[in-house]
Amino acid sequence: MRSHYCGGINESHIDQDVTLCGWVHRRRDHGGVIFLDLRDRDGMSQVVFDPDTPESFGLAEKVRSEFVIQITGRVRRRPAGTENANMPTGQVEVLGTAMTILNAAATPPFPLDEHVDVGEDVRLKYRFIDLRRPEMLNRLRFRSRVTSYIRNFLDRNEFMDVETPILTRATPEGARDYLVPSRTQEGSFFALPQSPQLFKQLLMVSGIDRYYQIAKCFRDEDLRADRQPEFTQIDIEASFVDEGTLMDLTESMIRELFQDVLKVALPAFPKMPYSEAMQRYGSDKPDLRICLELIDVADLVAAVDFKVFAGPAKDPKGRVAALRVPKGGELSRKQIDDYTKFVGIYGAKGLAYIKVNDLSKGVEGLQSPIIKFLGDEVALAIIERVAAEDGDLVFFGADKTTVVNEALGALRIKVGHDLNMLTAEWAPLWVVDFPMFEETSEGGLHAIHHPFTAPSCTPEELAASPETALSRAYDMVLNGTELGGGSIRIHDESMQQTVFRILGIGTDEARAKFGFLLDALKFGCPPHGGLAFGLDRLVMLMTGASSIRDVIAFPKTQSATCLMTQAPGTVDEKQLRELHIRLRKPAPASAAPVSEQDDLTKPGS
Ligand code: ASP
Repeated sequence: MRSHYCGGINESHIDQDVTLCGWVHRRRDHGGVIFLDLRDRDGMSQVVFDPDTPESFGLAEKVRSEFVIQITGRVRRRPAGTENANMPTGQVEVLGTAMTILNAAATPPFPLDEHVDVGEDVRLKYRFIDLRRPEMLNRLRFRSRVTSYIRNFLDRNEFMDVETPILTRATPEGARDYLVPSRTQEGSFFALPQSPQLFKQLLMVSGIDRYYQIAKCFRDEDLRADRQPEFTQIDIEASFVDEGTLMDLTESMIRELFQDVLKVALPAFPKMPYSEAMQRYGSDKPDLRICLELIDVADLVAAVDFKVFAGPAKDPKGRVAALRVPKGGELSRKQIDDYTKFVGIYGAKGLAYIKVNDLSKGVEGLQSPIIKFLGDEVALAIIERVAAEDGDLVFFGADKTTVVNEALGALRIKVGHDLNMLTAEWAPLWVVDFPMFEETSEGGLHAIHHPFTAPSCTPEELAASPETALSRAYDMVLNGTELGGGSIRIHDESMQQTVFRILGIGTDEARAKFGFLLDALKFGCPPHGGLAFGLDRLVMLMTGASSIRDVIAFPKTQSATCLMTQAPGTVDEKQLRELHIRLRKPAPASAAPVSEQDDLTKPGS
């Protein structure tokens, strides 16, 4: 139906006849001449109709925004002075000779003009229109370039693309499962995969050797800012490899991707043990663009009378840390109050601080409500420990270690951004040497990565001291975002049983849930490992989008609903009966999927 894309017309086509198809972006009536900006996937062309072609001129008078039309005409240079340097096709226009209206369009719910700010709920409801906006189209195009580059890279490195089932059994990645009732097996349910983890491991047992998949994963979590109930992973697994090989390979993949698609040369990826990341940055995904660091001062304050500090300093599960903010002395009372509220979100009960006005005056040169509780000597010792200078401000966190890490970890990012302290555009790293387990609120243990991750010790050592055991897991972090993570897996049945036991999964439960895996481990399982990257987050970071919803064609809201299709929806009684389901409470007549939790206007949501 067309000879060219609208965005592809340029001076090389002058005097040629072209046929274009697309949407009417804008129509301008200039006293006897009609200008149409015709838009398609590739861009926009200006088409001119004059009364010399009365039939098409008549049609051009009728078209409105978003009508779908086909035009034929001759490309010519725009008259001098009317060129548009901001448009790739701005040197030329098409003098239309024929037009067909392929489809009319009702007035769109919002103008497509990219600068018009429409509420995200409206954009999501009419996503098919929202995606026409060049900004959105470009993100999808970018995403497609990323997946195509990745596929290419993995193909070149002899990885095989294998699909794994969507209707499956629970795959424990720590979230709630999405369940699908079985019609043929009354009372039984499939679970949608939280990741292809177990299948990719089984593919290694099968000898596939190098596997990848751009895989949909499903996790029924209370959605935090950058999560979606279904998301996409670049999922990778390989046999006869160690962590070094996998990390080198996938680091090359990301490095080459950035080089190819963004023309960005990423700096070196340092490897940082988990313990160091927590110690220095309060986070296992530190944003290394910001050089602020947490510095422990518990030893200095353990003996003071000030319980707020001394308590956590003496508590083995507590932490007292300082965060020195260079030039932070300029922060106003109001800003400090706002930061105090901010750390409150993470459970911190307050935010103590010392302002360093003039160190030459000793303690007199310090300004803080807490100095009288700490005593002069301790205050000065802290200032010396954090190497604070005149004009600096030192914040403190004193609480359970988890609270201090989360609160000061988030504060360093916020202050770093607020005070423009970013030292680089891109700061990648690997975080390694994760603990195997962490304590749950009920006092049990929980696998930090997943229960199939190999420890760096023997089964005996693991059983003797699970709390201190380290795992062979690794995360790739970029600018404070976890891009991907994985591990060397357990390939030995007894080790797997040991881990299940530590996690409180008894032999019968292990057999019932993971019998197939335990069997596979018996029948010649090679040493193997892998990792998975979050594609949505990767594309979000690369495009600078502020939400993963902006890089997903049809995303869900924060209450896991689709505003366009109104999913999830109710089903009729007959379908429920077929699935052997009776609802505890009848569904409301028209279940509205838009929930009050859906606050899409929150920054970064
Ligand atoms: N299945 C893991 C995840 O989804 C990734 C991996 O270990 O390969 O996080």
